[in-house]
Amino acid sequence: MYALLLAALAVVLAGVAPRAMARLVSFRRAPRPALVAWQAVSLSAVIAALCAGPAAVAYLNDTTYGWFACSSQNGCATTIWWMENRRWIVLTIAAVVTVLVLGRLLLSGHRIGTRLRAARARHRELVDVLAAPESDGRADGIRVLDHATPTAYCLPGRRSRVVLTQGALAALPDDELDAVLAHERAHLRGRHDLLIEYFTVLHHSVPNPVRSPEALREVRLLVEALADRAAVRRSGPVTTARALLTLAQGQAPEAGLGAGGDGTTAARMRLLAAEPLSSLTIVLMYAYAAVVLILPLALLGLAWQ
Ligand SMILES: [Zn+2]
Repeated sequence: MYALLLAALAVVLAGVAPRAMARLVSFRRAPRPALVAWQAVSLSAVIAALCAGPAAVAYLNDTTYGWFACSSQNGCATTIWWMENRRWIVLTIAAVVTVLVLGRLLLSGHRIGTRLRAARARHRELVDVLAAPESDGRADGIRVLDHATPTAYCLPGRRSRVVLTQGALAALPDDELDAVLAHERAHLRGRHDLLIEYFTVLHHSVPNPVRSPEALREVRLLVEALADRAAVRRSGPVTTARALLTLAQGQAPEAGLGAGGDGTTAARMRLLAAEPLSSLTIVLMYAYAAVVLILPLALLGLAWQ
């Protein structure tokens, strides 16, 4: 019973909840608690899927099940066969489900992590060869590409880089450039790449019929909104909005995190002008995350009671 509940919970959290949460666009006005809620939902889906097997094993402790069917000669034979073999049947199903869930996660994590890190290393080497270090006294790690399209992005990792184009330097006044650099450094400091990688891995681990593209899209937008907050603290909302508009045509590579041009500019501009959410709503968002995270563990605990 609890195993079935946990399996259903995993499906709801992986497929239904993300679609519902993506419609709550007001969540975007508090990107940090919203990201916590999204992480809680995705992690809880994984925990629920992994707990379904152990919860099924707990069913073996139930020695009363099965005798109800013993109302006829045939019913008795079936019940006795089930009582004699159910241990192996349930253990096998539980093991297969757990191995499948873990296997998909590990395989997806390995493939995506390896591909991203290789692409990032290649791009970093390319940038180091082609670009000149920014020369007006700013911190190390900034590279300038000789390209006319205003673009800014960062390459996260141990040897991180912030990459700007000549077009961006020409188009952005100093205060807007400061906003863009604050945005990129927020990505690097917060290791937003790991967050997006985590959701990408989960996205590809979930079977197609259950998979929800809304989660990945929304998390990408929230990460950008979070970095925009750093830009606003540095240069103010109007300057940040101007910088976003200037960079709207630029494209960050797959291995990087940009400051604009990823199709989210309009939504982010609206967020810059929006009122922040009330403290009560933020507390409720954290409470929702906590409840969602505890739910599968509580069901597993009940199964083993
Ligand atoms: Zn960004």
